[in-house]
Amino acid sequence: MNTRRATIYAPATPPGRSALGVLRLSGAAAALVAERLAGRVPAPRRATLAELRDPASGALLDEVLLLYFPAPASNTGEDVLEIQHHGGAAVIRSLVEVLAAMPELRPAEPGEFTRRAFLAGKLDLTAAEGLADLIDATSAAQARAALRQMDGALGRRYAEWRERLLRALALLEAEIDFAAEEEVPESLWDAVGPDLAALAGELRGHLDDGGRGERLRTGLAIAVIGAPNVGKSSLVNAIARREVAIVTPFPGTTRDVIEVALDLGGLPVTLLDTAGLRDSDDPIEREGIARARARAASADLRLLVVDDPAALSPAGDADPATLRVLNKLDLLGHHRAERVIGVSATTGEGLDQLLTALTTHARDRLPGTDEVLLTRARHRTALQDALGALERAQALGGAADLGLLAEEIRLAGRAIGRITGAFGVEDILDRVFSEFCIGK
Ligand code: GDP
Repeated sequence: MNTRRATIYAPATPPGRSALGVLRLSGAAAALVAERLAGRVPAPRRATLAELRDPASGALLDEVLLLYFPAPASNTGEDVLEIQHHGGAAVIRSLVEVLAAMPELRPAEPGEFTRRAFLAGKLDLTAAEGLADLIDATSAAQARAALRQMDGALGRRYAEWRERLLRALALLEAEIDFAAEEEVPESLWDAVGPDLAALAGELRGHLDDGGRGERLRTGLAIAVIGAPNVGKSSLVNAIARREVAIVTPFPGTTRDVIEVALDLGGLPVTLLDTAGLRDSDDPIEREGIARARARAASADLRLLVVDDPAALSPAGDADPATLRVLNKLDLLGHHRAERVIGVSATTGEGLDQLLTALTTHARDRLPGTDEVLLTRARHRTALQDALGALERAQALGGAADLGLLAEEIRLAGRAIGRITGAFGVEDILDRVFSEFCIGK
């Protein structure tokens, strides 16, 4: 497609005031742009100091470092020019204006640089998604998982599974070509059956991860629940150490769910400050309460806040996903309730203990550092499709019609191929790359 082959450009660093910024171009006109702006094409892969001038007026735009990566040894597989410029808004604006005036160029769409890298075979789709996750990562654990995925750990596992399916398929197809019989010969089923069974087991194991990988991407959701005025918002504020939730002495004013993303000892956690869970006649408040209940019900962990020890059941909450917190310790002086963490949102007393407990819970519910994770619903769906086809193939077994068996294995292989992009269906590519920011 012609538009895809246009030379694209975009700032690779965020807008705003900074010491330096990077503007990136990819495509056949990259060298031409260097020639027009700097008067020469820099030597490949060497940082080159250059004055950039507006080709129309000759006005100095900036003094920059140019990096030129000729195709195919570049990030996108095309000619790439990186301009390291000074970070002022006016500099970026004038550079972009000059580029916009060149007919060979157009601004890049979100994720387009990475899409070109994928199309050039520089990385598979799971690695591209890892890159998107790395850009979005706010905690150390997320960044580590994203880097591993970018490095291809996940892609390699899926590619290996697909190869095993293709091997089985090749054996079956050879038989289809030569056999007089339509049924699968026993010897052939003996050759492919065990590996298909092993593969189905591996797929099941990978799928059965309790959603840990996906949770790592989105953050562990902790709902803060309790009666109005017990100090939920104050506690969320104290934990986040910033004023995000509205704290007021009147009950029922936090009508919505307020989310606070936290980095808890390197782990991604989202605190959900729920509306006071009580019945109300006000329709707006009722809506807030309904949403709070739904969110709390689906959260990974709940913090049940009370401000009166009498409100706690003496046996303790049997639910391991509920942590009990007694707030306003400064007013109570002391308490004798068991299995409850005493805190004061006002004085900060007990907060360290609460944070330690939260970190322990988060660590238990998030994956360890070396696991190859199932990180996306997209992968899960495709793997479930593959497993479904494999299970049908196993049910057909040795007594099957050769063609039917081959078809199920082909379906399983395709489903896995969709994950890595071996089957580059356009709509999948659009979905994956639209998640990127512009300039990536
Ligand atoms: P929510 O409705 O559960 O979110 O409660 P808020 O956070 O809005 O707090 C209700 C009232 O309790 C406010 O007046 C707070 O200042 C007060 N409060 C919250 N935490 C504490 C605490 O630890 N000690 C004392 N003395 N007051 C608190």
